[in-house]
Amino acid sequence: MAVDETGHAVVVGAGVSGLLAAHALARRFEQVTVVERDAVTDGPAEFRAGVPQSRHVHILWSRGLQALEELVPGVGADLEAAGAAVIDAPSQMRWLSPAGWFAGVPGARYLSVSREVLESTLRRRIVDRSAVTLMSRQEATGLLPAPGDTAVSGVRLRERGGGRESTLPASLVVVATGRSSRTAEWLLRLGYPVPAPERVDAHLGYSSRYYRRPVAGGPWRAMYLQGNPEVPRGGVIVPIDGDRWLVTLIGQGEHQPPVEEGAWLAFASSLRSPELSAALDGAEPLTDAVAFRATANEWTHFERAKRWPRGLVVTGDALCRFNPVYGHGMTVAALQAQAIAEQAAGREPAEIAARARETQRAVARCVKAAWLIATGEDARYPGTDGPKPGRFGRLQQDYLARVLVAANTDPVACEAFFAVLSLNRRPEALLTPRVAVRATRRRA
Ligand SMILES: Cc1cc2nc3c(=O)[nH]c(=O)nc-3n(C[C@H](O)[C@H](O)[C@H](O)COP(=O)(O)OP(=O)(O)OC[C@H]3O[C@@H](n4cnc5c(N)ncnc54)[C@H](O)[C@@H]3O)c2cc1C
Repeated sequence: MAVDETGHAVVVGAGVSGLLAAHALARRFEQVTVVERDAVTDGPAEFRAGVPQSRHVHILWSRGLQALEELVPGVGADLEAAGAAVIDAPSQMRWLSPAGWFAGVPGARYLSVSREVLESTLRRRIVDRSAVTLMSRQEATGLLPAPGDTAVSGVRLRERGGGRESTLPASLVVVATGRSSRTAEWLLRLGYPVPAPERVDAHLGYSSRYYRRPVAGGPWRAMYLQGNPEVPRGGVIVPIDGDRWLVTLIGQGEHQPPVEEGAWLAFASSLRSPELSAALDGAEPLTDAVAFRATANEWTHFERAKRWPRGLVVTGDALCRFNPVYGHGMTVAALQAQAIAEQAAGREPAEIAARARETQRAVARCVKAAWLIATGEDARYPGTDGPKPGRFGRLQQDYLARVLVAANTDPVACEAFFAVLSLNRRPEALLTPRVAVRATRRRA
């Protein structure tokens, strides 16, 4: 039999979820081809247009780092060698929550590195070391139906620049095309309608720029000033590779952070504390600011489609994207790659393709906790569009507000709060008696 009948998987998109899914499948497929519309080189880490969010703060929570390490052993050390920092929040991070400053006690770790270095490190570990090859400057334009229309049999491609069209057959296609994904439209063309996405939009805007990291280190390694419903403006400073700081300002609704130099600095000094602005005083900016506005939570429930073709899985932001302020997208992408690996384990390619629907359900399950956190928190803000919490939802919000107040000063509540925020534990962990007794003593 030809390889494409037995052992060829195609992954569309060479972002974090595409690379990790390809790596997970390389254990079972003879050949995995990652198709990417951008030009991707083996050279130094570079910005590319297909991942515009890379110029904004990207942290990888410890749950995601652990999943990454389990999937690609050794990658954590590579990242630290490339300049990534591992930081404990809040003990090593000045953090002003909506309720007040966190005390400097241990919470959860996260990895801070530029998105460009994260991706290039993953590419070096994944592409060409195994069965994975990368075809860059190839844009997928649709899915190929198999005879009988019950399966996907590959993808249609258009060469970037040249415009030459071609097809790439595969027994399994994984779509990881990120926030701009057109998967629902591709599926409809094959006669597979999917439900309209669930959407919660807090209308958050980001505006970010790079600074040279000052040599004299302060008492903290990173800083996060969160907004709250009264002052929905915030800012983050994280250290990244190249002895830089990446500084992101965040605002909701009419408080969108600007990009023009003077206005950007004025916004930085209008936050709930002057500490971030003071930290930037005298620090050398390396770039102008750039903005990002499309931050709505959006979940397309492919797993609920009435019919699903054999041989197709959708993952990463193409399946569900989150308000980025909670820092969950890449961790969920890593958990989804683990789910794909588990579903594929011990199975032949034909069986993996036949079980695409089960895999789609498994991948969708990885989304749930992050979705609950992001949409639950966003619902507190009056300008948020989406379903309003009912009576039970409001009780939940009140309880979580108390947990946050307790977490600000109490080490036990703080550890539980960050275990949930970092996706190390499920949200129910905040309901244990140890946490509940501390939370109910507090005023929301
Ligand atoms: C402003 C912002 C800040 C964020 N901060 C964080 C954070 O702190 N922590 C965190 O964990 N997550 C964060 N995220 C989320 C994170 O960026 C994503 O969840 C993560 O990148 C996984 O995305 P992905 O691989 O699914 O898609 P992407 O990274 O967007 O990659 C999609 C890839 O598919 C390619 N592509 C698209 N269409 C086609 C096509 N038709 N043919 C071929 N290739 C195609 C694109 O060029 C791109 O390379 C943030 C997101 C935003 C917007």
